[in-house]
Amino acid sequence: MTPTLYLRIVGALLSVMLASAFVGCSRPQRILTVERIEGVIEQVFDPSMGTCSRCWRPWNRVKSHTTWFESYHGMFTLCETCWHALSPTERWPYYRDILRSWPEPKISEGKLEQIVLAEKFGANPWMP
Ligand SMILES: [Zn+2]
Repeated sequence: MTPTLYLRIVGALLSVMLASAFVGCSRPQRILTVERIEGVIEQVFDPSMGTCSRCWRPWNRVKSHTTWFESYHGMFTLCETCWHALSPTERWPYYRDILRSWPEPKISEGKLEQIVLAEKFGANPWMP
């Protein structure tokens, strides 16, 4: 990758991120913060990789936190670091937005909210 191409990609990515800061400002997931700059830079190297909804770091660079809602169905939207940094109430909007983006949700919003708000230690409630 040439330096010019690299700078163009970084510039385009930063432009999208900055523009997203002004769309849906009530959603914390869309706002570019200082903490997310590292995530934005890492996304340049892994553009096809999914990311943590809070810090935007790619999944191959952070450990995801899985919230289980059945014995073999779970979801992750936050990395372990972000999950531990937030209260259950602060985590809920990230889960809600991911769930609403699913074309065919495997769980109702009300049920998932109960599970997210009750999850305090990251244990899988479906496993003994
Ligand atoms: Zn994170």
